Amino acid sequence: MSDNGTVHKFDPTILREYDIRGIVGTTLYEADARAIGRTFGTMVRRQRKGNKAVSKVVLGYDGRLSSPALAAACVEGLVAAGVDVVRIGLVSTPMLYFAVWHLEADGGIQITGSHNPPDFNGYKMMMGKKPFFGADIQKLGVLAGKGDVEHGKGNVESKDILADYAGRLLNDVKPGRKLKVAWDTGNGAVGVSIRAVVDKLPGEHFVLNEEVDGTFPAHHPDPTVPKNLEQLVSEVKRRGCDLGIAFDGDGDRIGAVDGKGRILWGDQLMILWARDVLKDRPGATIIADVKASQALFDEILRAGGTPLMWKTGHSLIKNKMAELKAPLAGEMSGHIFFADTFYGFDDALYCGLRLLNIVAGGSQSLASMRDKLPQLVNTPELRFDTPEERKFKIVEEVKARLKASGAKVNDIDGVRVSTPDGWWLLRASNTQAVLVARCESANEAGLNRLKSDLRTALEASGVALPDDASAGY
Ligand SMILES: [Zn+2]
Repeated sequence: MSDNGTVHKFDPTILREYDIRGIVGTTLYEADARAIGRTFGTMVRRQRKGNKAVSKVVLGYDGRLSSPALAAACVEGLVAAGVDVVRIGLVSTPMLYFAVWHLEADGGIQITGSHNPPDFNGYKMMMGKKPFFGADIQKLGVLAGKGDVEHGKGNVESKDILADYAGRLLNDVKPGRKLKVAWDTGNGAVGVSIRAVVDKLPGEHFVLNEEVDGTFPAHHPDPTVPKNLEQLVSEVKRRGCDLGIAFDGDGDRIGAVDGKGRILWGDQLMILWARDVLKDRPGATIIADVKASQALFDEILRAGGTPLMWKTGHSLIKNKMAELKAPLAGEMSGHIFFADTFYGFDDALYCGLRLLNIVAGGSQSLASMRDKLPQLVNTPELRFDTPEERKFKIVEEVKARLKASGAKVNDIDGVRVSTPDGWWLLRASNTQAVLVARCESANEAGLNRLKSDLRTALEASGVALPDDASAGY
């Protein structure tokens, strides 16, 4: 049904691949929140199958200062579209995902700026139990632009799901030796749930930056940047902890350090989790993204699993995982998905407990497990700015030249080129005007040759690989 009073145009930059995200007061306003609620509510109603009269959407928000106002406007839009809303308040993104499953809702919206600076905010959505992304988000923009929305009067109720959520997580904790663990919630949304979980665990637990504070006074809430882990590392050393665990601002990405204060990256942690999951599920498919170390794919195979390399992007990985019924998937960025005994969404606190199970259940320290991992030399993820309109073309050009030269290329997402020295990757970011690269070899000399191959491949498209191409997500 069209209604001119409901026509709404978004700033085109906010409708992104995996979420809606912008700068509050510059590209993202309360009027957008209302329109997102109205249009998303419309889409939920229209996809609803069966004869249930009313659709139900769960709504939560993170600890950003702008979140409560955006949440209120979004609720107005949802009820005006005729869907019932269950408000679960200030929660982490995985708590919102949990609530959608637990309350058997038809969809969910989390208002969150994830790990971005304080002036950002945005929306992560679920349609039914699936991620709402890509074409869904574009369609939401089109329907809003036409005012093609439903009318109605939904009800609003509030629910506190913390006890149910914490109980569900604690269900999967296994008995083991007592550990000393430091946790850094980085003033992000995991702060609301951390105590309800760690206070019930054996051992000693120290929580840093527990207070939810949208100004992020301690450090930026992104655990894939080493600088943001410095405080955790010093706490682990000072207290003599077995390990430390950190979260991003909305709790869907994990970072970890061993008892010596050394970082374990997403693909290293995945080796430990994959071995653990494969003990009960021999032969199972384990998925990792194209940025992951070859060591991960090799170790999955060695542990009796079936490794699958897939595209980077948490929504893409989640869908592939559901399609193949894979019990575990993960990304270098720290989005990790357990579906063996959990729901298959990325809950970093849950992942932390699964890491504790492994360490507490054996006699080895995390540091000694880390030392025994295959030792390869690799670059971090290298990111460098590239004009938006050129980024995909550059990758296509590089791919065409490589294929013509007979190189061994995996093109599932960009190009991942294998040589006798190892591999190098070049892909375009789906969310930023950025090219992403990574190289990995058995030794420094090999790594240098791979970097030089990458540099040569880029130069043929007129792109210089900057010396200061930085790590990070
Ligand atoms: Zn996040």
